[in-house]
This record gives sequence, C-alpha cells and structure tokens, in this order.
Amino acid sequence: MYDLIIRNGTVVTGEYTAKLDVAVKDGKIAAIGRLEGEAGEEVNAEKLLVFPGGVDCHAHLNEPGYTWREDYEHGTKAAAAGGVTTIVDMPLQNTPSLVDTDAFDNKVRVLEGKSYVDYAFWGGLIDHNLDQIEPLARRGVAALKSFISPSSPDYPSTPIPVAYEAMKKAARLDLLLGFHCEDYAMISYWEKQAREAEKNSWRSYLDARPVIAEELAVQNILDMAKETGARIHICHVSHPSVAERIKKARQEGVRVTAETCPHYLIFTEEDVEKNGGLFKCSPPLRKKEDMEKLWDYLKDGTLESIVSDHSPAAPYEKSDNLTVWETWGGISGLQTGLQIMYEYGVRRRGMSLELLAKLMGEKAAENFQIPCKGKLEPGYDADIVLFDPNKEWEITPDSLYYLNPISAFCGLKGTGMAAATYVRGKLVYKDGVFYEKQGKLIRYDGQHRVAD
Ligand SMILES: [Zn+2]
Repeated sequence: MYDLIIRNGTVVTGEYTAKLDVAVKDGKIAAIGRLEGEAGEEVNAEKLLVFPGGVDCHAHLNEPGYTWREDYEHGTKAAAAGGVTTIVDMPLQNTPSLVDTDAFDNKVRVLEGKSYVDYAFWGGLIDHNLDQIEPLARRGVAALKSFISPSSPDYPSTPIPVAYEAMKKAARLDLLLGFHCEDYAMISYWEKQAREAEKNSWRSYLDARPVIAEELAVQNILDMAKETGARIHICHVSHPSVAERIKKARQEGVRVTAETCPHYLIFTEEDVEKNGGLFKCSPPLRKKEDMEKLWDYLKDGTLESIVSDHSPAAPYEKSDNLTVWETWGGISGLQTGLQIMYEYGVRRRGMSLELLAKLMGEKAAENFQIPCKGKLEPGYDADIVLFDPNKEWEITPDSLYYLNPISAFCGLKGTGMAAATYVRGKLVYKDGVFYEKQGKLIRYDGQHRVAD
C-alpha cells in the first residue's frame, strides 16, 4: 500500500507533461502512471499541475549571524510557499562566514530542525583559504562560492591567481566552483571616481558596473577553467553577451554551468533609476533590449537554472536616506520565482512547461550533484508541488513570508501559483498554512551526496 497517491493531476517533468497519478511510499516517488491500488491518503489534483519541487541553488538565508535580514524560520517558509523544496544556501552574510570546517560544523548545529525544506551549503572560497578547499569538500559543501568582484569586509574577494590555484585543487576533487563575475579593478575604479566626483545618482551606480566588467570577469574565469579542467558555475548572468561567452566556452569543452534570476528577465535599469533601492543588485539590471535577449539563452539551454539569489535586507538598509553606494544590494525572491516564471515565461512568452521544470530545479540538482532531487521519477524524493494554473495573484508585503517582507517584486500581478508543497512525501505547505518542518541537510559524505 502506498502512503499517498496524488490523482488526476497534470504531471510536468523536464521530458513530458501528462495527466497521471503519482504514488509516494516512504518519502520517495514509488510510481507514476494510471495507478490502481490503495493509499493511506489520496489527494485529488484535478485542474492542478504537479511539478517536481524546486531546487534553488543560490539563496542567502543569512543564518547564523545576519538574522536581522533573514533566517531559516522565515526564509524556508517562503521557499515552501513558493514551491522550492531544496535550497543551496550561500556562505556569506553568515557569522562566521562558512570558509572553514569549524564554521561548517557550527552552521550544521545551529540550523538543526529549523528548516521547512531540504538544504545544502555552499562553502566559501576567499583570499586566504586554499587549504580549506579539500576539508570543506570532504565535510559536505555542495560547491564553493567566490567573488572576483568587490565583496564585503568579512568575505574578501578572491584574487585571480587564487581563483586559478583553487581551480587546480577543485578539479582534482571534482568540486564545483561558483563565481560572482564582475571585474574587481574596473568596478572599484569607476565607483571611486563617481564617489569622488559626488555623482550619487542611480545612473552613476549603473555606470560604475557596466557590462564589460561582467564580460571581462567571466572570460577570465572561463579561460582558467579551460586550462585547469575545473567544473565552474557562473552565478546570476545578467546580460546576453555574457551568456554568449558561456555558450561558446561550453562548445569548446569548458565544464561550465550557469544561472540567471527572474529580476534580470523582467526588470531593467529603468526600474533602478525610477524606483531605486529595492532594485539594487549586482550585477545590476540591464537595458530592456538586453533583458529581452536574455530569454533566448534560457531556450537554448545556456542558462540552465533560474535561481532567486534571495538576498534580503531590513527596510532601513534599502531606505532613500542612504546613498546609492551604501544601499544594500540584493533582491528578495525566494518565494516568487515559480509564479513569476510561469506568468512571464509560460503565459506571456509561450515557454514550455517542460523547460520551466528544468529551469526551476532539474538542472540545478544535476549540476550540484544533489541526488534524488529535481525530478518526478520513481526512486526520487517525493518533493512535489501542486500548482494551480488558474489562481490569480498579486505580490504584496502581506503575501510574503520573509522576515523582512519587502521586495522589488511587490506590485506584480499574474496567474498561477503553488497551492501545496510536499517535502519527501510530507505536506509542509497548503493554501497559506504551514505544517511540520521537514528540512534535512544534504551533504557530501566523501563519496556521494546523501541526505543526513
Ligand atoms: Zn548571491
């Protein structure tokens, strides 16, 4: 007997969309088809889409340490409500930053039992922790994150030669290295010039972070990856010309994967100039024609994952009282990725449901080698989202479960959103109500990644 059967829903996977039943047993998907047989519980999913749970491989949950911005209680509630069942949490805006094994162990302890959804950790690669790459890999990080752009004082940027040394080490371990690509020298130079000239408009901010800075940085990373054979991941690609370089490098055999975020696909630099703080992120938003072109790189598979880069802040850190340079750079989006991509991708641009399923989790699980996630297939974890394609929504502060319910996405309207979310076969969210926390740490055990 199955534990659960979800009947009559329209199952969506990266490969097909079909009206089928999904059976769950012991937290795993046991069967998909026209199913006979009994279950402890039956759910009628008539009129609903049945998606694999989302895998967001770029989110900043900020705990431990920066919990005035976000924490696991709120952040993972938001994830569950938005159909995300696995997050890969970033190592910065943590105290301590996750750049050594002590910090890893501490974070494991602090977060025990606090998450609604499953989670894995990014470790950090900074300017002076090359000796921690192997220990962190053995401890269980999914990947290492590095800034070759300006970063924050407690999370120093990685100089190019250190990134190169790191790639050589990571290649031997087959460990994924992720990079924030904006050229350090260029951005520092132009920002300093603007500040000295007291050019403090949002236009000045945008001008200090031009596309060439992202292109130059990504090309350096691609060239080094080509030589070292390292597996690399380019974070938050903001511009089609950057995507084009990634595409070419992949054709030449570079082991590169890449992601982008909903904000780069629907907002433009006009939004930054008009609305300021809430739209500040880096790389910054780009011109309308570039935003339009970025969609092509989803279709052709260059940009494989949609991630939130959920990077929350307290309201005062986004306030107009701060200069454009002091304002916190980051956009909160962990809860809203699926509904936005359904509205702007599927409904408005005719994106296929199969591509949406790939973008929201299947490829991320594959690229980050998270086993049993991102697909609806027998043997996979029963991470399931029941999605109501007819439900109308407006994103408002009231609708957001973040600790700080502010976001550039507030005010958007659309149709289609998650109605219920299951983690390993257990209901964690349904129609505005949350159930027991189910989140477990996913870690590398020295040979393969497993849930604890
Ligand atoms: Zn980020």
